[in-house]
Amino acid sequence: MAVVTPPAIVILGPGALATARRVQTLYPGAQVHALEGRVAGDVAFSELGAHLRECYTRGLPIVALCAAGIVIRCLAPLLANKGAEPPVLALAEDGSAVVPLLGGLTGVNVMAREIGAALAVAPAITTSGELRFGTCLLNPPAGYALASLAQGKRFVSDLLAGAATRVDGHAPWLENVDLPREAAARHAIRVSAHVWDGSPDDLVIHPRSIVAAVGAPREALADNVRRALDAHGLAPLALAALVAPAAHMRDASLAQAAAELGVPLRFVDSEENTAQATLAALDLAADVERYTPNDDGVALACAAAPLDPRALGRARGKLAVLGLGPGRADLLTPAARAALDSATDIVGYATYVGMAGPFRADQQRHATDNREELQRARHAFEMASEGRRVAVVSSGDPGVFAMAAAVLEALEGSDDARWHAVELAIVPGVSAALATAAQVGAPLGHDFCMLSLSDNLKPWTVIEKRLLHAAQADLVMAFYNPISRARPWQLERALEIVRSVRAPHTRVVLGRDVGRPGETLRAMTLGELRSADVDMRTMVIVGSSATRGFARGDGGEWIYTPRWYREDA
Ligand code: SAH
Repeated sequence: MAVVTPPAIVILGPGALATARRVQTLYPGAQVHALEGRVAGDVAFSELGAHLRECYTRGLPIVALCAAGIVIRCLAPLLANKGAEPPVLALAEDGSAVVPLLGGLTGVNVMAREIGAALAVAPAITTSGELRFGTCLLNPPAGYALASLAQGKRFVSDLLAGAATRVDGHAPWLENVDLPREAAARHAIRVSAHVWDGSPDDLVIHPRSIVAAVGAPREALADNVRRALDAHGLAPLALAALVAPAAHMRDASLAQAAAELGVPLRFVDSEENTAQATLAALDLAADVERYTPNDDGVALACAAAPLDPRALGRARGKLAVLGLGPGRADLLTPAARAALDSATDIVGYATYVGMAGPFRADQQRHATDNREELQRARHAFEMASEGRRVAVVSSGDPGVFAMAAAVLEALEGSDDARWHAVELAIVPGVSAALATAAQVGAPLGHDFCMLSLSDNLKPWTVIEKRLLHAAQADLVMAFYNPISRARPWQLERALEIVRSVRAPHTRVVLGRDVGRPGETLRAMTLGELRSADVDMRTMVIVGSSATRGFARGDGGEWIYTPRWYREDA
């Protein structure tokens, strides 16, 4: 199978760079991941083990230019649960040896051959079936599914033991494979949408060539589809997609049925909500065999070759508004990471789009410099309405002075049914106030408020009023957007208001570029704070009367707000 996702080419020192760049030319979109402080590549990482594990869990193929043993040790903790396994290869720094380690069923040997050919070395392939036939029979190309892995293994060992085989059906990828073929052989590789009858001599491969169409969501839909397939002797693994009328896009039972069946869910615009009308709207080729719908309202169609689900109607679009956290990769939540990985399009302010990368070649970036959040939100809905999976990125948390509210505002203001049919998710992130607080201790340990000092979208008088009330209520305050070139005097005025209520010895924490390169943290008092200490990349936390500090072991200070409260504290 051709490698779809470009690999992470991982290097630990300058000695490996030349070989890494040669491998990179084989895989468009591949990036060289280089150990920080040792060598510069396209992506920097600081700890090999953690980085390899992250790539692996993200399903990225890995070409590691280091000892095979190191790679094995790094990934060992992840290998117990054998799930989908990306190809992993070790490659000698000087390109003199290439060793496929993992991913036998996802094309590691194909990659080993490709890299071996480019570097003029023999790949260290150890899979016996591969060695004999030059391909992995158990790893059919995209669009085909093996009926049974256990049966497949038995079939391959029969062939290795000397049995011959015939090929029934159309298997274009086997045409140039050196199989022991015999027209009358007892063993057969059978390419068919029909279920395997259990014959021990057959290797059955299903082309994903069947469409199941429904007219309306129903109870137990997945069971209905299975029953319809069963009635015609068709294999569930041969199903390419479940298709429904776009009018039912928001129905959760459809998504659940598709997930249960393990196939993509696609939609078409059809006049009436019947299975037959759905099928008709797909405009399938004339030679596709149609089956009349059963009582459960499922219509089937079966093509001779695999069907590309992307060509069948359109998907339900997705829009995830996600928070990247303050910047550090390990403060990005796995849920946000997953939303980024599954996105086809990434929308956001250029700095944050950059922060969210690296991206695959198939992911489109829509980085803008404009601060027109509503416009950006509308663009995101437009793309999602076409069936794309869009990620809108914010720094920190998307719901804290960021894109989530803009996206909801755009949606509320729209009467476009396509926008309302989009699957919308808000994925939280670590907000700047939380990241800053954690660095110094727990200044937000008791009641606090978050305030934006920007008067772009609200009148300054409102800000003054809220500041005064928050100060009087003795809340800890976290100031976002404290100052900017366009708003030079506002912070000083804000501090005046706070000082009119709160004592000069009140604790203040300034966090600048927290969780990013060049992070700085400063602790001071309200009396000492000057607006010149603050810029737009700074988080200002002003303590309450109870916020306190004490020396920490490393010479710094822990600052926290106790959980209790005394009027006279
Ligand atoms: N959604 C973001 C906030 C966006 S408003 C969040 O939840 O963090 C932008 C303001 O957030 C900046 O002016 C600054 O005050 C603060 N900020 C964002 N990232 C920061 C960081 N890494 N360090 C310090 N302050 C930051």
